[in-house]
Amino acid sequence: MARTDAIVLGAGIVGVSAALHLARRGLSVALVDRRAPGEETSYGNAGIIEGNTYFPYPFPLKPAALLKIIFKQAPEANYHLSHLPKLAPWLFSYLMHSRGPAMLDFAHRMRPLFANAVAEHEKLMQEAGAESYLRTNGWLKVYRSVRGLEDARRDLDVIAAAGIAFEPLDTDAALALEPDLAPVFERAVFWPGAASLSNPLAVTRAYAERFKKLGGVLLEGDARSLHRAGDKWRVDTDEGAVDAAAAVIALGPWAPDVLDPLGIRLPLLVKRGYHRHFKPAGNKGLSRPVLDAEVGYLVAPMEQGLRLTTGAEFADRDAPATPVQFDRLMPQARELFPLGAPVEPEPWLGRRPCFPDSMPVIGRAPGQPGLWLDYGHAHWGLTLGPVAGRLLAEMMTGETPFTDPKPYAAERFLP
Ligand SMILES: Cc1cc2nc3c(=O)[nH]c(=O)nc-3n(C[C@H](O)[C@H](O)[C@H](O)COP(=O)(O)OP(=O)(O)OC[C@H]3O[C@@H](n4cnc5c(N)ncnc54)[C@H](O)[C@@H]3O)c2cc1C
Repeated sequence: MARTDAIVLGAGIVGVSAALHLARRGLSVALVDRRAPGEETSYGNAGIIEGNTYFPYPFPLKPAALLKIIFKQAPEANYHLSHLPKLAPWLFSYLMHSRGPAMLDFAHRMRPLFANAVAEHEKLMQEAGAESYLRTNGWLKVYRSVRGLEDARRDLDVIAAAGIAFEPLDTDAALALEPDLAPVFERAVFWPGAASLSNPLAVTRAYAERFKKLGGVLLEGDARSLHRAGDKWRVDTDEGAVDAAAAVIALGPWAPDVLDPLGIRLPLLVKRGYHRHFKPAGNKGLSRPVLDAEVGYLVAPMEQGLRLTTGAEFADRDAPATPVQFDRLMPQARELFPLGAPVEPEPWLGRRPCFPDSMPVIGRAPGQPGLWLDYGHAHWGLTLGPVAGRLLAEMMTGETPFTDPKPYAAERFLP
């Protein structure tokens, strides 16, 4: 490359979106990954662009639910005992951020990002010619019991007061939307404002192609080679060293591999999650993602089949896969959904990069001039990738940011 203004490290949905937003603003950008775009966490998510998100991902507070998790009976969560010493302080902080007034803080800080998430994707999809992957028919949460919905009522009232649209449904009304569900649930909530994708990998690839069309360069390299070279940042790639005045860390769960050696230690942990595709039974199917809310897993229609995604597994990022949640949930999943034979021999394992306050870090890296951060998008990286990329690009190019970026600064974790 003749001149590089910025290096973006990590070509998941977050890095690709940031690189694309920088290239749209006329910067010469090198996007560096050790794999092809979108092949890690951004490959296997449930495909929901959930701009309606209002509260952080819930921490189970009911004793019965907690005991089920502790005794490894819960479909929605699993943990590795060996991970507990590392997990405990993070979990305590997560608990504190997921209750009471902290939930409302999250809502106020994150609303500008979530509220713009679908529109930002739509803009990029149009440019990238990827609209065929987009469904704008919302998603559905089903509750096995009336009580299950009643338990969610207080949160729903706050969400309604914030002007976010949803429709509580009885079984028949939900079946009118998704006729191939079995009527083993009593209530549902339909979220019409959410969008979803039939192939998240294809969309990340399409954004990467658009980035290349705008002059961006995609290179293979190891982000851990990032170091200072004079007043620039340098990374080694298969095409040699690349230098730029600015570098962006968009490595999702792998960001600490580069940041820890630079002395930037932020409390990122991964919540692992699995998926497996199933052939639809007979000629049945789904037209939108559906969450089995009280059991704690989701099924989304994808090009590869019906993708069943699990909740959180607390384990070391690189520990071997332990997809035991499937054993716990498959009887109920087969009861509710038209699932045929599995498509792959083994489930896929992904890693959600999560801070304890459930918010990403977007902005300057503390104490490292020219270094920028865009990672930790937790359960909503697909949703937030484009809108976070826009905000970062606005900050990097000196434009007026569309929203105050202060809530997302890394400094919130520093003394
Ligand atoms: C089961 C599951 C379901 C989910 N469902 C949803 C959903 O419905 N909606 C939603 O919004 N979000 C969802 N998410 C979350 C979402 O998938 C993530 O937040 C998002 O993919 C994170 O994107 P990313 O670009 O930060 O990370 P990644 O996609 O993991 O990208 C990081 C990139 O860094 C690269 N990399 C790592 N180390 C190096 C290195 N040393 N050198 C070079 N490159 C390196 C990797 O190869 C990778 O390409 C889900 C996640 C899971 C696991």
